[in-house]
Amino acid sequence: MQSLQLRQRDYLLRISRAMTARLDLPSLLRLILNSAVEMVGAEVGLLVLRQADGRLAPQAIYGLPPARAVQVAALLREGRDLAGAGEGGRTSPELPLSLLSAAAGIPLRQVVQMPLRSDDELIGAIYAFRSGGAAFGVNERQVLQSFADQAAIAVRNARLYEQVSAEKRRLDAIIENSASGVLILSPDRRVQVMNRALAAMTGWSAEEARGEPCWKILPLENSSLGSAEGVAGQNLCAAHDAPPLPHEIDPARPEQAQTSYYVEGDLLRPGGSRLTLGVTYTPLYDSEGRLLNIIGNVVDITRFREAEQMKSTFISVISHELKTPVALIKGYAGTLRRPDAAWDRATVADSLAVIEEEADRLNTLIDNLLDASRIQAGVFKLEPGAVDMARLASKVVERFRRQTERHTFELDFSADLPLVLADEARLRQVLDNLTSNAIKYSPQGGPIRIGGWQDGHEVTIFVADQGIGIPEDEQGRLFASFYRVDSGLRRQTKGTGLGLYLCKAIVEAHNGRIWVRSGQGQGATFFFTLPVYADGFN
Ligand code: ADP
Repeated sequence: MQSLQLRQRDYLLRISRAMTARLDLPSLLRLILNSAVEMVGAEVGLLVLRQADGRLAPQAIYGLPPARAVQVAALLREGRDLAGAGEGGRTSPELPLSLLSAAAGIPLRQVVQMPLRSDDELIGAIYAFRSGGAAFGVNERQVLQSFADQAAIAVRNARLYEQVSAEKRRLDAIIENSASGVLILSPDRRVQVMNRALAAMTGWSAEEARGEPCWKILPLENSSLGSAEGVAGQNLCAAHDAPPLPHEIDPARPEQAQTSYYVEGDLLRPGGSRLTLGVTYTPLYDSEGRLLNIIGNVVDITRFREAEQMKSTFISVISHELKTPVALIKGYAGTLRRPDAAWDRATVADSLAVIEEEADRLNTLIDNLLDASRIQAGVFKLEPGAVDMARLASKVVERFRRQTERHTFELDFSADLPLVLADEARLRQVLDNLTSNAIKYSPQGGPIRIGGWQDGHEVTIFVADQGIGIPEDEQGRLFASFYRVDSGLRRQTKGTGLGLYLCKAIVEAHNGRIWVRSGQGQGATFFFTLPVYADGFN
């Protein structure tokens, strides 16, 4: 008896060592079952765990081929409920041993079942079988139960560990795939974790950034401070000497730890482009009030900023563009109406011409605004037909030729240019806009060339001037609504920044593309493509 207890202690010690060494669960269960079966001198042993569907599946087998073990386990399921069957080491009255023996392929005369319980829930059982000899005694049952308890603890630990790992994987995936940037900082503000979105914003890879101070990763310029909770904001990544956060707070006053700091600023990226970012920093304290981490949530607000600027540009441009013609019309009309003046015919004709021109300008502006709002509302319609681009361009040029003396016009269409499938009135708008821009933005005058060639199923049209050109970093934004390049000329030339936006919308409605090739002071050439009439819209 003494030696049984000693051996038991020895086995249990080995098992608890194996558990702390984090042996994987299947090996651990095998070790437990083997030890238990050897301890009580049984020939066959089975450790089964209840699956999600209620089935009992063998997790460790002793003395049986796996296929036999599965058959035995299936019978056990078909027998009585485990709790009723084996509680206290009784065999199931409904399950004759002859059936189990047939399934096992060897005679099983003695059987004992010990339940595996975790948090009062029956999660499985250990079975030990003998092919002969005496029934299992109280001592042996106790021994088996202590092993069953160890197995239950191991299963519980493994399940908890799996739950925690699954939870961690889920959180990692949420952080990694979050559309906004996520930054996890150590208390001394070095990067511990940075997600993909933030890597894309900053140009740093997560590996490069790890361990770096955050003021290297997120050096915001022109930053303005705000606070999510109305507390004075703090730019935690401004510089290495940014004011420190309290490393410890009073755990009795957890509200101290609730503060989030919000800051907005510009980030200069490696390629030279800028992003406007909004960063919310939230310090994370443990239950003892020690600073664990600072979580940074980074949102790219460049578009909002641009939209805000766009709105104010819209108001100033529109009011200016509307007011000028109205003031002119009113001025000329008032002068003509003066009862004390007698105007000669030429003056009256000139004044009326100005009134008509300005009214036309107002009309165009209103049409453009209506078109822009139709595009935004998605109700922009085309009436496509066959269009001869060379003819259309020559009509446009004829009209502009009368308006300028400084510019010369040249048409350069390949002789066999096919008809295009397009809405002629809309295309005229595109050519009008591009040509009037070519004139406006080459104030010194010079040649303006309009031409086109065929390229497979497409025709490419271009309008080229030798004017002030467009700096490369502005070219991406030209086609946005109300965007105007901030040059000295912008203030002198009339315009709303709607022309190119409409051109792009019209060309794209034809399944075409529009782009520009230019450089500062080198003139500009705008290109767009249209489908060949015979080939239809692709
Ligand atoms: P706008 O009414 O200001 O002319 P557009 O949308 O037609 O509006 O053009 C947007 C901006 O693109 C212009 O303000 C100008 O800065 C620039 N731009 C357009 N065409 C040219 C060109 N041919 N040469 C130089 N800059 C141009």
